[in-house]
Amino acid sequence: LRPDGASYLSGLNPEQRRAVEATEGPVLVLAGAGTGKTRVLTTRIAHLIATGKARPYDILSVTFTNKAAREMKHRIGQLIGPAGEGMPWLGTFHAIGTKILRRHAELVGLKSDFTILGTDDQLRLMKQVIADQNIDEKRWPARSLAHTIDGWKNRGLGPEQVPPGEAQAFAFGKGGQLYAAYQARLATLNAVDFGDLLLLCLKLWRDNPDILANYQDRFRYILVDEYQDTNVAQYLWLRLLAQARKNVACVGDDDQSIYGWRGAEVDNILRFEHDFPGATVVRLERNYRSTGHILAAASGLIARNEGRLGKTLRTEDAAGEPVTVTGAWDSEEEARQIAESIESLQRKGHPLSEIAVLVRISAQMREIEDRFVQVGLPYRVIGGPRFYERAEIRDALAYLRVTMNGADDLAFERIFNTPKRGLGDATLQTLHAYARADRIPLLAAARKLIETDELKPRARSMLRGLVESFSRWTRLVEAKPHPEVAQTILEESGYTEMWQKDRSADAAGRLENLKEFVRSMEEFPDMAGFLEHVSLVMEASEAEGADRVSLMTLHAAKGLEFDTVFLPGWEDGLFPNQRAIDESGRAGLEEERRLAHVGLTRARKRAKLSFAVNRRIHGLWSSTIPSRFIDELPPHAVDVIEAPAHFSAGASRFDRNPAPFGSSYGTPGWQRAQANTAGGFGSGRGGGRSGGPREIEGELVAKSTATPSAFSGGQRVFH
Ligand code: ATP
Ligand code: MG
Repeated sequence: LRPDGASYLSGLNPEQRRAVEATEGPVLVLAGAGTGKTRVLTTRIAHLIATGKARPYDILSVTFTNKAAREMKHRIGQLIGPAGEGMPWLGTFHAIGTKILRRHAELVGLKSDFTILGTDDQLRLMKQVIADQNIDEKRWPARSLAHTIDGWKNRGLGPEQVPPGEAQAFAFGKGGQLYAAYQARLATLNAVDFGDLLLLCLKLWRDNPDILANYQDRFRYILVDEYQDTNVAQYLWLRLLAQARKNVACVGDDDQSIYGWRGAEVDNILRFEHDFPGATVVRLERNYRSTGHILAAASGLIARNEGRLGKTLRTEDAAGEPVTVTGAWDSEEEARQIAESIESLQRKGHPLSEIAVLVRISAQMREIEDRFVQVGLPYRVIGGPRFYERAEIRDALAYLRVTMNGADDLAFERIFNTPKRGLGDATLQTLHAYARADRIPLLAAARKLIETDELKPRARSMLRGLVESFSRWTRLVEAKPHPEVAQTILEESGYTEMWQKDRSADAAGRLENLKEFVRSMEEFPDMAGFLEHVSLVMEASEAEGADRVSLMTLHAAKGLEFDTVFLPGWEDGLFPNQRAIDESGRAGLEEERRLAHVGLTRARKRAKLSFAVNRRIHGLWSSTIPSRFIDELPPHAVDVIEAPAHFSAGASRFDRNPAPFGSSYGTPGWQRAQANTAGGFGSGRGGGRSGGPREIEGELVAKSTATPSAFSGGQRVFH
């Protein structure tokens, strides 16, 4: 391939081409959604390889999700063929961090087969640490300690680097101690959590400059997608690696920064220009993804944010269909409308794979999923708590983990008496005492314990059975294909049988999941590779090819695009969420608005917003009002399909009085939207808004008192 006339360059516009061809020195592409930032990165990799400036393994390329990494590899292959295959250093921060740590584990006090703990196990461990320090877990819950420690890790701070003031603030000054104790426990377990994957790299490089120099030399070119969402630890990690050669290209969009709550810092964009002076800064302004109306809606909305670097976006596409807003009586009806709408698209020949439903919180998914299942719409869930988080899958994983790593105490504890084999708490306590005394893992302690007469004969024989099984299974790993090993373990342990005997409604589904679990292992070369994959998967990866609707949270949708995007749940209190509304500053609300902007800009041709005026969250009914973000959309780009008949028909069926929040009701968005269909879009919002959803237990409550004027007497009031 010749670089000048190379086909992979021909489709780019001049700015994109500049960003691709400026291979030496720092490059920053700061541009809006759909302007081809990711495409620039992919083409840049192809260009580096095709021109012989780099071999695939000289390039470090960081994506935000594993899915994005897979897609990028696929596209590079399409651009330059087999020459681009491999790309061993293309992946998420976590995946790359893991790979580096496995090579040098001993230098940071680990063994190379260390386990990566999921959130669940992390919390169990925190609980133990808190209990060990005699702190009241009710007062200082594990979850909040986990959050605090994650925050420190995201900022690149180890236990000894936490500012004393902050360490003091948790649990009567024990924050720092707890952090240190937690790290010590992780080390004994030969385990790390997600934050460690980068933090320990930083430590490794700080303590071993020769190793750092080696990596600086190895990675001739560094590329980073979704740069706006890097946190401080990630930034420090990148900066260390890039400092020697300075061939680093970052692409991002401050308007799509949606991980502030997880420690991401938009300021990293500004820091880049400071740390890498003389960087080539490229701005891309043409959006290639969305129609005019969608872009107008997204741009109009984000223009309400104050904290922006500011940029223009234009499209040369037609205006297309207006963004639609649909109201529903409740979330069930909303789900029904979405399913119907999808079926109608399907009848017109639109592939389901080009349709996505993006929700604010994963709890919204269940009703939509239920509806899809009911009408037989195939769908996949991407991201969030999913398949591998399910209890039966976690149990199965625990069996495999102990088989692979006898020191994995958390996993051992999880399945110690699952299925029930008469090994109660007393036995577990004895085991713990043994393990502590000899400083050995629980499984090793069990091996000792069964040689004594400390346990009752029955418990001893059951424990002996378990210990011997694990020895057998561990040997089996060498001898048999790993899916077969897993199958054997699930059968011999009695785990499968436990669910077969279970009479509860979901047992069949769980058995299905277990089958799917064993099946999914076939995609991996070996057991260790599979377990590592599971630890790392942040998003569900499902079989490609099948025509299915995609369902995911807005957070998981970053970087993706679909012809049609459904955006349900645009209600104050849900989206923007209540915390952002209650917050005193603007930061939370602006992040929510950026999230809305990300949602809208995922759509190529159709964006369909909706809201329900009643929603059940965690089993409680809430009455809601449409999102303030709906009000903020430029009227000319929006079309209102339908507002809940219940309202236009007259008096509210339930209390929409904003008291005790005490403000007059003003003009809720959906109502102004109705005005729009009636001829004109209302201007400005009336009085204040209610404080969002109020929870009403059980049924919807109909109250006759103090119905706001706008809703009384069956009349609609247009402002
Ligand atoms: P986001 O901010 O959402 O991640 P992005 O800036 O990374 O968006 P891409 O995903 O790279 O944008 O590109 C958006 C769409 O526009 C893709 O379908 C891509 O193939 C297309 N595209 C990008 N550049 C061009 C171009 N020069 N000509 C035609 N299509 C293009
Ligand atoms: Mg992108």
